[in-house]
Amino acid sequence: MKYHFETQAIKTQTERTQFSEHSTPLYLTSSFVFDDAEDMRASFAEEKEKNLYSRFSNPNTTEFVNKIVSMEKAEAGYAFATGMAAIFSTFGALLSAGDHIVSCRSVFGSTHTLFTKYFPKWNIETSYFKVNEVDKIESLIQSNTKILYAETPTNPAVDVLDLELLGKIAKKHNLLLIIDNCFATPYLQKPIEYGADIVIHSATKLIDGQGRVLGGVAVGKESLIREIYLFSRNTGPAMSPFNAWVLSKSLETLAVRVEKHCKNALKVAQFLEGNTKVNLVKYPFLKSHPQYETAKKQMRLGGNIVAFEIKGGISAGRRFLNNIKLCSLSANLGDTRTIVTHPASTTHSKLSNKDRLEVGITEGLVRVSVGLENLEDIINDLKQALEN
Ligand SMILES: *Cc1c(COP(=O)(O)O)cnc(C)c1O
Repeated sequence: MKYHFETQAIKTQTERTQFSEHSTPLYLTSSFVFDDAEDMRASFAEEKEKNLYSRFSNPNTTEFVNKIVSMEKAEAGYAFATGMAAIFSTFGALLSAGDHIVSCRSVFGSTHTLFTKYFPKWNIETSYFKVNEVDKIESLIQSNTKILYAETPTNPAVDVLDLELLGKIAKKHNLLLIIDNCFATPYLQKPIEYGADIVIHSATKLIDGQGRVLGGVAVGKESLIREIYLFSRNTGPAMSPFNAWVLSKSLETLAVRVEKHCKNALKVAQFLEGNTKVNLVKYPFLKSHPQYETAKKQMRLGGNIVAFEIKGGISAGRRFLNNIKLCSLSANLGDTRTIVTHPASTTHSKLSNKDRLEVGITEGLVRVSVGLENLEDIINDLKQALEN
């Protein structure tokens, strides 16, 4: 029986053992045993669906993957130690030397480093489009282009890309569309419905939601996941059973957590929009957001990340961070704890001003990952930090 999202997140469960445990136990085992020579042969020949070795599969990682597969309406998936392992292994499995990628310029920092520093070593080049230049995408496609890649909403400027448009372009030009759905989670947005072939998550963020473990996952078409699985079972980026156990429990509460994160974030965005120390607020579900219509079309709610431009540039951004009392200064996002960052003086400080502006990072840009504390407490902290 097919249940709704929240029910599926709870009811998708590894088969119970002889102990009839209600909640799935932790299977900390590196390998699995076989009944006899024939069982072992058939298992290795993949004539049987059986766990062999936890680098290939494990009951905990399988349960976690099955949940994400059902949430994203995918066919199959594989779980990784981190989000970056998922991204690297997906490209590693699907690309050959001489292939070409077309990507949005606003992608996660380490993904950008893969494109600029490592893939060129294997003769894989990337061409970029800016978030406000989607009409240029088709002109970047070459005869050797294999993948169209994007994140939406983007980090840290919270821009939104039109998934329906990306899906149409990918289909027309026979490209694989790969979407990093980390900021939205499958609760808010399902890129596969718009034609994505692979959806990737850093499970470290909202999927864990409590800042405890690292993880990543790639889900999508069976034939493509098969390639990613074979690449990964030989190269070894597998998720640990412990992390899978934690993350599978996290998914049971994903819907309620994300719902509340988004409710708080919208109120924070509305508060900031009315504050005189703030120039500009970016939140997908604010009417002032440049891609508001697109966000409304493809997202259930606006997500938990709010970006705003503080008046007074770098020094005002740093002063704001120093004034913060309740919220955390941390590199993570999607935690129960509200986190504030100032990209121009931290994560993106090594970029030139011009390169920063290309990805929407102005000197006064502050990113808030709105958490699950009491809304009034969050707003009061931001307010006093702006005014002091
Ligand atoms: C954090 C993040 C990643 C990388 O995930 P890790 O689990 O830290 O390796 C990739 N994409 C996005 C959008 C992220 O926010």
